[in-house]
Amino acid sequence: MSETAIEFTDVEKRYGDVRAVDAISFSIRKGELVTFLGPSGCGKTTSLRLIAGLELPTAGTVRIAGENVSTRAASERNVGMVFQSYALFPHMNVIDNVAYGPTIRGGAKKAAIERGREILTLLGLDGLEKRLPSELSGGQQQRVAVARAIVQQPDVLLFDEPLSNVDAKLRRRVREEIRDLQRRFNLTAVYVTHDQEEALAVSDRIVVMSQGKIAQIGTPQELYDRPSSRFVADFIGDANLIEGAVSQNAFTVEGLSLPLPQPAPDGPATISVRPERIALEKGDGVSKIRTATYLGSRYEYIVDTPFGTVLVSAPISLAPLDRGDTVKLGIAPGGFTVVEHA
Ligand code: ATP
Repeated sequence: MSETAIEFTDVEKRYGDVRAVDAISFSIRKGELVTFLGPSGCGKTTSLRLIAGLELPTAGTVRIAGENVSTRAASERNVGMVFQSYALFPHMNVIDNVAYGPTIRGGAKKAAIERGREILTLLGLDGLEKRLPSELSGGQQQRVAVARAIVQQPDVLLFDEPLSNVDAKLRRRVREEIRDLQRRFNLTAVYVTHDQEEALAVSDRIVVMSQGKIAQIGTPQELYDRPSSRFVADFIGDANLIEGAVSQNAFTVEGLSLPLPQPAPDGPATISVRPERIALEKGDGVSKIRTATYLGSRYEYIVDTPFGTVLVSAPISLAPLDRGDTVKLGIAPGGFTVVEHA
């Protein structure tokens, strides 16, 4: 069984009447990269700060590496942080920035510099040791900040929107580098972002938060393919939410009857269908293409159906459809999830 690195048990953080974090429980395994994802104000930054010790819980228990650290200050926890402003010391060169740390003193300093050089080389930053932060690109500064955190060999590495200052193209590369490093050093990392694509790309698991609570925890695939609620379906990726009814193990709505992948109680229900899970067949169907858009890597159609408007994503290998074409819709078993029962 793998080791638990971080464990929250009924952790709550209140500010007056506001429950920024509302009795949440989860655990993170050693070597895992877990992302907190959710809309503004859902409590993800507060959760990260509770791990760091920058906030202390008003109730519940925080454990790091098996120890109860609930009342310990940040300086008494072995946690590294990489924030959106890289917070490099502007007057110190790269290697001094990397080998700087409150725990690095005296003899440890030499070892830290050696380890720092190794990590800088791994990050493709060798030769830049003597540069000042102002002489580096944004991506390079970000890598120096990551190197500095790793040198201190923390139990946990925390990333708070680390790429929000990096331009879109570089973001992709830097996030792959962060992921690569995290894997290579078997680091336990917690990452906060409001960018769902970034969360899907870097995470082993994602904690989706809403109003201080956990809406769902799962791998990127689980959250995408089997969202447990309308909120998660809508927040991650594009979702077609179709309202109908479940009866005798099928979901039915005007013109559509779909066998359920898992049993669900009879009654009104809403399903979520991803745009690429809907197949369109040209013919005398009752649905009609309202708009057809060529996006280079795929076609996107908005289709008027008897049960509302749906978004469909189709591979470029299929013959394109045109605005006004009538079509039949197909949804494969397992291509949808029930996200709400009445
Ligand atoms: P964002 O994406 O906007 O950074 P978030 O998900 O990180 O949002 P938090 O910063 O964790 O959200 O805040 C959660 C809730 O707690 C919000 O309603 C916020 O206003 C409130 N809150 C956070 N810090 C404080 C504080 N120091 N005092 C009072 N309320 C706070």
